Amino acid sequence: MIFESLAEKLQNTFKKLRGHGHLSEDDVSTAMRDIRMALLEADVNFKVVKDFIAKIKERAIGANILESLTPAQAVIKIVNEELTELMGGSVSRINIAPNPPTVIMMVGLQGAGKTTSVGKLGIMLKKQGKHPLFAAADIYRPAAVKQLQVLGQQLELPVFSMPEGTDPVVIAEKALEYAHSHANDVVIIDTAGRLQINEELMQELKSIKSIVHPHEILLVVDAMTGQDAVNVAESFNNDLGLDGVVLTKMDGDARGGAALSVKAVTGCPIKFVGTGEKLDALESFYPDRMASRILD
Ligand code: GDP
Repeated sequence: MIFESLAEKLQNTFKKLRGHGHLSEDDVSTAMRDIRMALLEADVNFKVVKDFIAKIKERAIGANILESLTPAQAVIKIVNEELTELMGGSVSRINIAPNPPTVIMMVGLQGAGKTTSVGKLGIMLKKQGKHPLFAAADIYRPAAVKQLQVLGQQLELPVFSMPEGTDPVVIAEKALEYAHSHANDVVIIDTAGRLQINEELMQELKSIKSIVHPHEILLVVDAMTGQDAVNVAESFNNDLGLDGVVLTKMDGDARGGAALSVKAVTGCPIKFVGTGEKLDALESFYPDRMASRILD
Protein backbone atom coordinates (compact mmCIF):
# COMPACT_ATOMS: atom_id res chain seq x y z
CA MET A 1 0.00 0.00 0.00
CA ILE A 2 1.17 3.54 -0.71
CA PHE A 3 3.02 5.28 2.11
CA GLU A 4 3.10 2.04 4.06
CA SER A 5 6.61 2.35 5.36
CA LEU A 6 6.53 6.15 5.62
CA ALA A 7 3.36 5.95 7.68
CA GLU A 8 4.88 3.38 9.98
CA LYS A 9 8.01 5.44 10.54
CA LEU A 10 6.19 8.70 11.17
CA GLN A 11 3.77 7.04 13.51
CA ASN A 12 6.69 5.66 15.50
CA THR A 13 8.24 9.10 15.64
CA PHE A 14 5.03 10.59 16.96
CA LYS A 15 4.56 7.78 19.43
CA LYS A 16 7.96 8.63 20.88
CA LEU A 17 7.00 12.31 21.06
CA ARG A 18 3.73 11.54 22.81
CA GLY A 19 5.67 9.55 25.38
CA HIS A 20 7.18 12.80 26.63
CA GLY A 21 4.79 14.98 28.60
CA HIS A 22 6.95 17.99 28.03
CA LEU A 23 9.15 18.30 24.95
CA SER A 24 12.71 19.52 24.97
CA GLU A 25 14.44 21.08 22.03
CA ASP A 26 16.37 17.85 21.67
CA ASP A 27 13.17 15.83 21.41
CA VAL A 28 11.97 18.06 18.60
CA SER A 29 15.33 17.92 16.80
CA THR A 30 15.34 14.14 16.98
CA ALA A 31 11.81 14.01 15.64
CA MET A 32 12.75 16.31 12.75
CA ARG A 33 15.71 14.11 11.92
CA ASP A 34 13.50 11.02 11.94
CA ILE A 35 10.91 12.69 9.72
CA ARG A 36 13.64 13.79 7.33
CA MET A 37 15.04 10.25 7.08
CA ALA A 38 11.60 8.75 6.63
CA LEU A 39 10.83 11.11 3.76
CA LEU A 40 14.15 10.47 2.05
CA GLU A 41 13.64 6.73 2.39
CA ALA A 42 10.21 7.20 0.81
CA ASP A 43 12.12 8.59 -2.19
CA VAL A 44 10.91 12.15 -1.78
CA ASN A 45 13.00 14.68 -3.69
CA PHE A 46 15.96 15.86 -1.61
CA LYS A 47 15.25 19.57 -1.91
CA VAL A 48 11.57 19.04 -1.22
CA VAL A 49 12.50 17.28 2.03
CA LYS A 50 14.87 20.06 3.00
CA ASP A 51 12.27 22.79 2.45
CA PHE A 52 9.61 20.73 4.15
CA ILE A 53 11.64 20.22 7.33
CA ALA A 54 12.62 23.89 7.38
CA LYS A 55 8.98 24.88 7.21
CA ILE A 56 7.96 22.50 9.98
CA LYS A 57 10.74 23.82 12.20
CA GLU A 58 9.80 27.40 11.50
CA ARG A 59 6.16 26.78 12.31
CA ALA A 60 7.01 24.77 15.42
CA ILE A 61 9.09 27.66 16.72
CA GLY A 62 6.45 30.21 15.68
CA ALA A 63 3.74 28.24 17.49
CA ASN A 64 5.95 27.96 20.54
CA ILE A 65 5.19 24.26 20.77
CA LEU A 66 7.56 23.62 23.64
CA GLU A 67 5.21 25.65 25.82
CA SER A 68 2.12 23.97 24.45
CA LEU A 69 0.04 21.74 26.73
CA THR A 70 0.03 18.96 24.15
CA PRO A 71 3.26 19.53 22.26
CA ALA A 72 3.24 16.21 20.41
CA GLN A 73 -0.25 16.94 19.11
CA ALA A 74 0.90 20.36 17.99
CA VAL A 75 3.77 18.87 15.99
CA ILE A 76 1.52 16.26 14.39
CA LYS A 77 -0.97 18.95 13.40
CA ILE A 78 1.74 21.01 11.74
CA VAL A 79 3.14 17.98 9.89
CA ASN A 80 -0.32 17.02 8.73
CA GLU A 81 -1.06 20.51 7.39
CA GLU A 82 2.30 20.78 5.67
CA LEU A 83 2.01 17.33 4.07
CA THR A 84 -1.37 18.35 2.70
CA GLU A 85 0.10 21.59 1.40
CA LEU A 86 3.03 19.72 -0.13
CA MET A 87 0.64 17.63 -2.20
CA GLY A 88 -1.26 20.67 -3.46
CA GLY A 89 -3.50 21.73 -0.59
CA SER A 90 -6.93 20.98 -1.99
CA VAL A 91 -8.25 18.78 -4.76
CA SER A 92 -7.65 20.08 -8.32
CA ARG A 93 -10.33 19.38 -10.89
CA ILE A 94 -9.95 19.32 -14.65
CA ASN A 95 -10.81 22.44 -16.61
CA ILE A 96 -14.17 22.16 -18.27
CA ALA A 97 -14.71 24.36 -21.33
CA PRO A 98 -17.54 26.90 -21.15
CA ASN A 99 -18.37 25.95 -24.75
CA PRO A 100 -18.08 22.23 -25.40
CA PRO A 101 -16.27 20.20 -26.34
CA THR A 102 -13.72 20.20 -23.56
CA VAL A 103 -10.47 19.00 -25.11
CA ILE A 104 -8.21 16.88 -22.92
CA MET A 105 -4.81 15.89 -24.22
CA MET A 106 -3.24 12.89 -22.51
CA VAL A 107 0.52 12.67 -22.80
CA GLY A 108 3.18 10.42 -21.33
CA LEU A 109 5.88 7.88 -21.91
CA GLN A 110 5.19 4.36 -23.10
CA GLY A 111 4.07 1.98 -20.42
CA ALA A 112 3.08 4.67 -17.94
CA GLY A 113 -0.56 3.70 -18.29
CA LYS A 114 -1.68 6.45 -20.63
CA THR A 115 -4.13 4.51 -22.78
CA THR A 116 -5.60 2.77 -19.74
CA SER A 117 -6.01 6.18 -18.05
CA VAL A 118 -7.75 7.55 -21.14
CA GLY A 119 -10.29 4.75 -20.75
CA LYS A 120 -10.63 5.29 -17.01
CA LEU A 121 -11.16 9.02 -17.39
CA GLY A 122 -13.69 8.41 -20.16
CA ILE A 123 -15.84 6.14 -18.02
CA MET A 124 -15.53 8.48 -15.04
CA LEU A 125 -16.78 11.40 -17.14
CA LYS A 126 -19.52 9.26 -18.66
CA LYS A 127 -20.74 8.44 -15.16
CA GLN A 128 -20.87 12.20 -14.52
CA GLY A 129 -23.27 12.54 -17.45
CA LYS A 130 -20.79 13.61 -20.12
CA HIS A 131 -20.49 12.22 -23.63
CA PRO A 132 -16.79 11.65 -24.22
CA LEU A 133 -15.12 10.82 -27.50
CA PHE A 134 -11.73 9.12 -27.58
CA ALA A 135 -9.29 10.22 -30.29
CA ALA A 136 -6.65 7.64 -31.25
CA ALA A 137 -3.59 9.74 -32.01
CA ASP A 138 -0.99 7.26 -30.70
CA ILE A 139 -0.09 5.94 -34.12
CA TYR A 140 3.44 4.68 -33.48
CA ARG A 141 2.72 1.85 -31.12
CA PRO A 142 0.88 -0.49 -33.50
CA ALA A 143 -1.42 -1.92 -30.85
CA ALA A 144 -2.38 1.42 -29.28
CA VAL A 145 -5.20 2.28 -31.68
CA LYS A 146 -6.61 -1.22 -31.37
CA GLN A 147 -6.26 -1.04 -27.56
CA LEU A 148 -8.30 2.16 -27.51
CA GLN A 149 -10.93 0.69 -29.83
CA VAL A 150 -11.31 -2.30 -27.53
CA LEU A 151 -11.62 0.06 -24.54
CA GLY A 152 -14.23 2.08 -26.39
CA GLN A 153 -16.27 -1.03 -27.12
CA GLN A 154 -15.99 -2.24 -23.56
CA LEU A 155 -17.05 1.13 -22.13
CA GLU A 156 -19.57 1.82 -24.89
CA LEU A 157 -17.83 5.03 -25.83
CA PRO A 158 -17.01 6.18 -29.37
CA VAL A 159 -13.44 6.13 -30.67
CA PHE A 160 -12.29 8.39 -33.49
CA SER A 161 -9.47 6.93 -35.57
CA MET A 162 -8.08 7.38 -39.08
CA PRO A 163 -6.20 5.09 -41.48
CA GLU A 164 -2.65 4.09 -40.69
CA GLY A 165 -0.12 6.71 -41.68
CA THR A 166 -2.35 9.73 -40.95
CA ASP A 167 -0.60 12.63 -39.23
CA PRO A 168 -1.60 12.68 -35.52
CA VAL A 169 -2.21 16.43 -35.78
CA VAL A 170 -4.80 15.76 -38.50
CA ILE A 171 -6.36 13.00 -36.40
CA ALA A 172 -6.73 15.37 -33.43
CA GLU A 173 -8.16 18.12 -35.61
CA LYS A 174 -10.67 15.84 -37.31
CA ALA A 175 -11.64 14.32 -33.97
CA LEU A 176 -12.74 17.77 -32.82
CA GLU A 177 -14.87 18.23 -35.94
CA TYR A 178 -16.37 14.81 -35.33
CA ALA A 179 -17.16 15.73 -31.72
CA HIS A 180 -18.89 18.93 -32.82
CA SER A 181 -21.11 17.10 -35.23
CA HIS A 182 -21.86 14.19 -32.87
CA ALA A 183 -22.56 16.20 -29.71
CA ASN A 184 -19.57 14.84 -27.80
CA ASP A 185 -18.90 17.34 -25.04
CA VAL A 186 -15.45 15.96 -24.15
CA VAL A 187 -12.67 14.81 -26.47
CA ILE A 188 -9.88 12.80 -24.87
CA ILE A 189 -6.88 12.59 -27.14
CA ASP A 190 -4.58 9.61 -26.64
CA THR A 191 -1.27 10.95 -27.95
CA ALA A 192 1.82 8.99 -28.83
CA GLY A 193 4.19 7.84 -26.14
CA ARG A 194 7.87 7.08 -26.53
CA LEU A 195 10.30 5.09 -24.46
CA GLN A 196 11.91 8.35 -23.48
CA ILE A 197 11.44 12.05 -24.03
CA ASN A 198 12.84 13.23 -27.34
CA GLU A 199 12.60 16.26 -29.55
CA GLU A 200 10.41 14.54 -32.11
CA LEU A 201 7.82 13.59 -29.50
CA MET A 202 7.72 17.07 -28.00
CA GLN A 203 7.43 18.65 -31.44
CA GLU A 204 4.49 16.45 -32.29
CA LEU A 205 2.75 17.21 -29.01
CA LYS A 206 3.36 20.93 -29.45
CA SER A 207 1.85 20.76 -32.94
CA ILE A 208 -1.25 19.01 -31.64
CA LYS A 209 -1.50 21.53 -28.81
CA SER A 210 -1.26 24.50 -31.18
CA ILE A 211 -4.01 23.13 -33.42
CA VAL A 212 -6.56 21.87 -30.88
CA HIS A 213 -5.94 24.32 -28.02
CA PRO A 214 -6.61 21.79 -25.27
CA HIS A 215 -8.35 22.94 -22.10
CA GLU A 216 -6.39 20.39 -20.20
CA ILE A 217 -3.06 18.69 -20.80
CA LEU A 218 -2.66 15.77 -18.44
CA LEU A 219 0.63 13.94 -18.07
CA VAL A 220 0.40 10.28 -17.14
CA VAL A 221 3.33 9.03 -15.06
CA ASP A 222 4.05 5.79 -13.25
CA ALA A 223 4.27 6.28 -9.48
CA MET A 224 6.46 3.22 -9.15
CA THR A 225 9.28 5.00 -10.98
CA GLY A 226 9.60 7.46 -8.10
CA GLN A 227 11.87 10.42 -8.82
CA ASP A 228 12.05 9.44 -12.51
CA ALA A 229 8.35 10.23 -12.69
CA VAL A 230 9.04 13.62 -11.14
CA ASN A 231 11.82 14.33 -13.65
CA VAL A 232 9.59 13.32 -16.54
CA ALA A 233 6.89 15.66 -15.21
CA GLU A 234 9.38 18.50 -14.96
CA SER A 235 10.54 18.02 -18.55
CA PHE A 236 7.04 17.80 -19.99
CA ASN A 237 5.98 20.84 -18.01
CA ASN A 238 8.94 22.88 -19.20
CA ASP A 239 8.53 21.88 -22.83
CA LEU A 240 4.80 21.61 -23.25
CA GLY A 241 3.12 23.11 -20.20
CA LEU A 242 0.93 20.83 -18.13
CA ASP A 243 -2.35 21.39 -16.33
CA GLY A 244 -2.08 18.33 -14.19
CA VAL A 245 -0.67 14.91 -13.59
CA VAL A 246 -2.24 11.46 -13.47
CA LEU A 247 -0.18 9.29 -11.18
CA THR A 248 -0.72 5.65 -12.10
CA LYS A 249 0.08 2.38 -10.34
CA MET A 250 -0.31 3.84 -6.87
CA ASP A 251 -1.49 0.36 -5.90
CA GLY A 252 2.03 -0.94 -6.50
CA ASP A 253 3.94 1.97 -5.01
CA ALA A 254 4.79 1.40 -1.36
CA ARG A 255 7.00 4.46 -1.01
CA GLY A 256 5.03 7.40 -2.35
CA GLY A 257 7.98 9.62 -3.30
CA ALA A 258 6.42 10.81 -6.55
CA ALA A 259 3.07 11.59 -4.92
CA LEU A 260 4.86 13.75 -2.37
CA SER A 261 7.25 15.51 -4.79
CA VAL A 262 5.42 16.19 -8.06
CA LYS A 263 3.56 19.32 -6.98
CA ALA A 264 6.48 20.87 -5.12
CA VAL A 265 8.97 20.24 -7.94
CA THR A 266 6.83 21.07 -10.96
CA GLY A 267 4.09 23.32 -9.61
CA CYS A 268 1.57 21.02 -11.37
CA PRO A 269 -1.07 19.40 -9.24
CA ILE A 270 -1.74 15.68 -9.27
CA LYS A 271 -5.36 15.52 -10.38
CA PHE A 272 -5.95 11.77 -10.53
CA VAL A 273 -4.40 8.59 -9.29
CA GLY A 274 -4.61 5.16 -10.86
CA THR A 275 -5.10 2.48 -8.24
CA GLY A 276 -5.34 -0.70 -10.29
CA GLU A 277 -5.61 -2.23 -13.74
CA LYS A 278 -9.40 -2.28 -13.75
CA LEU A 279 -11.15 0.54 -15.56
CA ASP A 280 -12.89 1.89 -12.46
CA ALA A 281 -9.57 2.23 -10.64
CA LEU A 282 -9.16 5.98 -11.07
CA GLU A 283 -9.67 8.45 -8.25
CA SER A 284 -9.45 12.19 -7.80
CA PHE A 285 -6.38 13.08 -5.77
CA TYR A 286 -7.23 14.55 -2.37
CA PRO A 287 -4.07 15.89 -0.67
CA ASP A 288 -5.73 16.03 2.75
CA ARG A 289 -6.88 12.40 2.57
CA MET A 290 -3.43 11.36 1.42
CA ALA A 291 -1.83 13.16 4.36
CA SER A 292 -4.24 11.44 6.71
CA ARG A 293 -3.29 8.06 5.27
CA ILE A 294 0.25 8.79 6.35
CA LEU A 295 -0.52 10.09 9.81
CA ASP A 296 -3.68 8.32 11.02
P1 GDP B 1 0.67 3.29 -22.19
O1 GDP B 1 1.80 2.68 -22.99
O2 GDP B 1 1.16 4.45 -21.39
O3 GDP B 1 -0.53 3.61 -22.99
O4 GDP B 1 0.30 2.19 -21.10
P2 GDP B 1 -0.96 1.24 -20.96
O5 GDP B 1 -2.20 2.02 -20.74
O6 GDP B 1 -0.97 0.25 -22.08
O7 GDP B 1 -0.61 0.52 -19.57
C1 GDP B 1 0.57 -0.22 -19.35
C2 GDP B 1 0.31 -1.27 -18.28
O8 GDP B 1 0.10 -0.65 -17.03
C3 GDP B 1 -0.92 -2.11 -18.54
O9 GDP B 1 -0.63 -3.44 -18.20
C4 GDP B 1 -1.97 -1.53 -17.58
O10 GDP B 1 -2.93 -2.47 -17.18
C5 GDP B 1 -1.09 -1.12 -16.43
N1 GDP B 1 -1.70 -0.04 -15.61
C6 GDP B 1 -2.12 1.17 -16.00
N2 GDP B 1 -2.57 1.89 -14.95
C7 GDP B 1 -2.41 1.12 -13.84
C8 GDP B 1 -2.68 1.29 -12.44
O11 GDP B 1 -3.14 2.34 -11.96
N3 GDP B 1 -2.35 0.25 -11.62
C9 GDP B 1 -1.82 -0.93 -12.10
N4 GDP B 1 -1.54 -1.88 -11.23
N5 GDP B 1 -1.55 -1.11 -13.40
C10 GDP B 1 -1.85 -0.12 -14.27
